[in-house]
Amino acid sequence: MIPAEFEYVAPSTVEEAVQALDRAGDDAKVLAGGQSLLPVLRMRMADPGLVVDLGGIPEARGVREDGDTLVIGAMTSHHEVMRSELVRGHAELVALATRTVADPQVRHRGTFGGSLAHADPAGDLPAPVLAMDAEMVVAGPSGRRTVPAAEFFVDYFTTALDSNEVLVEVRIPKYTGWRAHYEKFNRVAQAWSVVGVAATVLVRDGAVARARVGLTNMGATPVRAHGVERALVGSPPTEEAFRRAAVHATEGTQAGSDASAEADYREHLAEVLTGRALATACG
Ligand code: FAD
Repeated sequence: MIPAEFEYVAPSTVEEAVQALDRAGDDAKVLAGGQSLLPVLRMRMADPGLVVDLGGIPEARGVREDGDTLVIGAMTSHHEVMRSELVRGHAELVALATRTVADPQVRHRGTFGGSLAHADPAGDLPAPVLAMDAEMVVAGPSGRRTVPAAEFFVDYFTTALDSNEVLVEVRIPKYTGWRAHYEKFNRVAQAWSVVGVAATVLVRDGAVARARVGLTNMGATPVRAHGVERALVGSPPTEEAFRRAAVHATEGTQAGSDASAEADYREHLAEVLTGRALATACG
């Protein structure tokens, strides 16, 4: 199908983008990689009067360090994220999850920030970002604010972003030296997650010193598996310890049923995949 007619602007700064969104009220959409937005427009599930393309804003692209924090620009493509030495060195979990997103074509066009702003429960990047206590830097008409990942994902396809706000960058504390794995279960290669588990673990002196675990598609938003994290700390990094900790994976989840899986099957997957993600992370 062909999208309904809309005006198109391509600002060169974040502030110009925000002004354009603000002027349009609720009648505008931000365009990042277009991998999710363009199908929505073509199916006329949305018909904004204005599309604000962030593609020409240099500030929103790239990966950099800021002291103990890794900063990923919202418009950085999945391909750039998974190839970045900085991401691989300080946030390996993000690099590994990004590698599982779709296919090379989508990874070249789709963006880190677009995936987070889209907030698809089956999307693979919200869970790692939540598990790693990232913060979202959001620009709006009255300036910039920082939103913790735990408050950013609000509901199915819904975030804390207002219609006149733009996600500029994501700040992730460095996880240098942590082991990581993203375990994804999907029915066909290069497809969305039925369930995914993002796990990163710091092992010191033969025991798990710290652990972070997030779940994909176990509810309307990504879920932090705090019970698993608590059960792991102090344990030796053994398969037995991982299996025991994984029993807590579904605490606080409200998995839904859909054409891919029933809720109880998702719960089974979450437990099995958590054990597997931890074992793979720790080799
Ligand atoms: P867009 O499509 O441009 O935007 C998506 C939404 O976010 C829009 O509502 C837009 O207004 C908003 N938005 C985007 N950027 C910002 C911003 N900076 N500030 C405010 N709002 C913003 N994803 C996975 O995680 N796993 C998969 O396995 C997977 N498989 C896919 C398979 C196919 C065939 C396709 C087409 C996509 C797949 N995706 C998958 C989605 C892909 O990761 C997209 O890149 C992502 O959903 C949206 O990113 P985008 O940059 O294309 O955003």
